[in-house]
Amino acid sequence: MVRVRFAPSPTGYLHVGGARTALFNYLFARHHNGSFILRIEDTDLARSERIFEENLMKTLRWLGLHWDEGPDIGGKYGPYRQSERLHIYAEYAEKLVKFDKAYRVYAYPEEIEKIREDLLSKGLPPHYTREMFEPFATRERIREYEEKGLKPAIYFAMPREKIVHHDLVKGEVVFSEGSVGDFAILRSNGVPTYNFACVVDDMLMEITHVIRGDDHLPNTLKQLAIYKAFGVNPPLMGHVSMILGPDGKKLSKRHGATSIEEFMERGYLPEAVVNYLALLGWSSPDGKEIMSMEEMISKFSLERVSKNPAIFDPAKLTWMNSQYIKATDSKRLVELLKPFLKKWNIEVEDKNWLERVVEVEKERMHTLEDFLTNADYFFKAPKVEVQIPEDIKKALEKCAQELSNNAKASREELVEIFRKVVKESNVKPKDFYQTLRLVLTGKQGGPELLDIVLLLGIEEVVRRIEASLG
Ligand code: GLU
Repeated sequence: MVRVRFAPSPTGYLHVGGARTALFNYLFARHHNGSFILRIEDTDLARSERIFEENLMKTLRWLGLHWDEGPDIGGKYGPYRQSERLHIYAEYAEKLVKFDKAYRVYAYPEEIEKIREDLLSKGLPPHYTREMFEPFATRERIREYEEKGLKPAIYFAMPREKIVHHDLVKGEVVFSEGSVGDFAILRSNGVPTYNFACVVDDMLMEITHVIRGDDHLPNTLKQLAIYKAFGVNPPLMGHVSMILGPDGKKLSKRHGATSIEEFMERGYLPEAVVNYLALLGWSSPDGKEIMSMEEMISKFSLERVSKNPAIFDPAKLTWMNSQYIKATDSKRLVELLKPFLKKWNIEVEDKNWLERVVEVEKERMHTLEDFLTNADYFFKAPKVEVQIPEDIKKALEKCAQELSNNAKASREELVEIFRKVVKESNVKPKDFYQTLRLVLTGKQGGPELLDIVLLLGIEEVVRRIEASLG
C-alpha cells in the first residue's frame, strides 16, 4: 500500500513550489490507490504559526488536494502535528543513544560554537565528532545540568562512509565519505531537529515514498544514515528539481505572484492552477497539456518527472486559465464570481441574466478579475467623452427613435433597425456601429453588439444613446 505525505512547515503561505510537491504526492497516491497524508512540521516553534497551518489547509482544499490523514481529520498514525509528538522523538532519540548511534552533549551553545570556529580557523570543515564533546561531560557539568534542570542535547554519530542513494527522479546520487559531521537530533529543550523528526515520522507513519524538492537532497544523506541506525529500510525517495522564474533564476517574489492564495484572489480557477502545476516538471506521455485531475491521476508517474529545473511562466498559467474559463459552464462561473462581485459591490438579482452576460464575456476573460474590467458597462453606464461627428450623431438620434418605437424588438428586428438607420442616415456602417458600441460600453472591443443590446435591454440602450448626444 502506497503511503505518501506532504509535510509543510507552517511558516508562510503555500507557494508554487510547495503546491507542486503536494500535487505530485497527491497524484502519486491516487494513481496507486494509496494514502495521501498531511503532516505539519512545526518544530521551528518561533516561526510556526497556526494561521499559516490553517491557510495551508484552506489552499490545499481549494486546489482539490484532499488528504486521507491529517491534523484536522486524524488517522491511525496521529498526531499529525510534530509539536504534539515531542515525547515520541525523545523516546526514539533515547533508542539511538542505547544503540550507541547517538550520544549526549553537555557542552553549552557557546562552547559548541567555539569548536566550530576553531575548526574553521584551521581551515577544516566544521564537522563535529563525539571526541570533541567528551571533555565537557565531566561529573561537575553533569551535576550542573541536573541542578539547573537542563537536559543534554543528543547528537547523531554520523558514519563517515560513502552512501549511494537511488533516487526515483535523479537516479544514482553518491554522497562521498565524510561529507557531513555529527549533528544534533534533539535540542536540549527537547525539540527535535528537522532531519530526525522527519525520519521518525516517516518511519512510524509507514511512509513508502518520499517525494519532495531537491533542495532536500543534502538532508537525504543524514536521513538515510538515521534509518540505517534504526535498522529500518528507508522509504523510496524522489527529489524533484527546483522551479525557476522565466529569467532562469530561482523562483521568488521578484517574479510576481508565487503564492497560491494570490492566484486564488486574482481569479484563477483551481483546475487551471493544478493543471499548470502538474506540468512544472512532469509531462503526460501523450504530450497533452490540458488535463482534468482524473486524467492526471491516471497518467502520473515519477518516471516522467524531469531531472531538469522547471520554468514557471506566469503568462502560460494565465493562458491556461483563460482556456479553463472558456470551457467552464457559465452557471459555475457565476458561482465562482460571487465573492468577486461582492468585493466589487455589484449586486445582481437576476441570476439568469448574469449567466447570459458571463456567457458572452467569458471568451475574453483570462482571469475572473477580468470580468470587472471587461464587463463593467453591464452594471454601470460608461462615461464617454468623445466628440461624435454630426452625421453619426444624427444616425444615433434616429436609432434611439426607432428603438423607442420598437421596445420589444427581437434580434432579427434589431438587425433590420440598424441597417435601416445606417442606410437612411447615409453613414458608413463601421463608423456607426463603432460609435454605438463606444456609447454603450465605453470600449472599442467586446462581445457582439447585438448581444450587448439585448442584454442591456432596449430601454437602457436608448438612455445611453441619449446621454451621449448631450
Ligand atoms: N518540512 C519540510 C519542508 O517544508 C518537509 C521536507 C520533507 O518533505 O521531508 O521543506
